[in-house]
Amino acid sequence: MGESKRGLLERLNADAVICAEGYLFELERRGYLSAGAYVPEVVLDHPDAVRQLHREFLRAGSDVIEAFTYYGHREKLRIIGKEDLLEPLNRQALELAKEVAQEATDEPALVAGNICNTNIYDPGEPGTEDSCRAMFAEQVGWAADAGVDFVVGETFTWTREAEIALEIIKQTDLPAVVTLAIPAEGKTRDGDLPAEACRRLEDAGADVVGLNCYRGPATTLELLEQIRERVNCHVAGLPVPYRTNAEQPTFFHLPDPACDCLPAEGTFPIALDPFTCNRFEMAAFARACYDAGIRYIGVCCGGAPHHVRAIAEALGRRPPASRYSPDLTKHFAFGTDESLKEVNVGYRDRM
Ligand SMILES: [Zn+2]
Repeated sequence: MGESKRGLLERLNADAVICAEGYLFELERRGYLSAGAYVPEVVLDHPDAVRQLHREFLRAGSDVIEAFTYYGHREKLRIIGKEDLLEPLNRQALELAKEVAQEATDEPALVAGNICNTNIYDPGEPGTEDSCRAMFAEQVGWAADAGVDFVVGETFTWTREAEIALEIIKQTDLPAVVTLAIPAEGKTRDGDLPAEACRRLEDAGADVVGLNCYRGPATTLELLEQIRERVNCHVAGLPVPYRTNAEQPTFFHLPDPACDCLPAEGTFPIALDPFTCNRFEMAAFARACYDAGIRYIGVCCGGAPHHVRAIAEALGRRPPASRYSPDLTKHFAFGTDESLKEVNVGYRDRM
């Protein structure tokens, strides 16, 4: 404890900042929370599982440990009938993030508080703005109490809801990172182009604006470049690591004709495996972002530590997990090490 640590903006001005996300999908795969409601109950039920994933992302090169309070909000806890867990869950998630951030080998990691889409915002019901405000205020209050370095507001499909989140974050003195999730039509649900919406968020005081979730690298990058052109502040890009395309710009309706045992709902959200980007694709995304002047780079739902390490290495870093980065020269059949047996190396093309 106590080492000097640079803040978010200082780090962004100097270089890139890597932010690993994807806690919901990864902990669902590991059996610690349920797909559907996607409530981070794991924070209270199995804190070691959360600690471990924070640690894996940190070792893989994340500069930020984001408290796992995504969907740890009042509306989500209401759906599972556990509103009484709201405050303990948030406070514990913040403590877990702080604890692991201190394990960084050199400079401690940044700790981020997190708020997100409420799922109650409805422009047809103006009263919902105040309900959103109250939900954001309680979570941002707990994050500020915990002494986070900044607050992320993310996965907003409505510009207006993002503005309300920003307004609440700005009531603290903490930097605000606000990112939108852009549906297939290419606009926010209020009808704004992403670059216009981000410009408005910058004008309203956001320190970093950008996009997270919904879209894979292939359908996120162009929008990020448009945002980069339109705003002066730093830009964030945290796509889902799935192979979206012009026909299917988001990860909600990707067809998988090769599979004959899909559930009726299709591949989203629990049968997306065949569309997962490999580490090289995430590395290429990170390099393209950096070259385009996009400095806050990460991965959202579906992301795993190997993606984060590939991003870090693409940005010229060597995080602790790079100690075990691939060295295929030593593979028994595909390697080139001189001591490998010809009986195996010579067999590779027939394997
Ligand atoms: Zn996501």
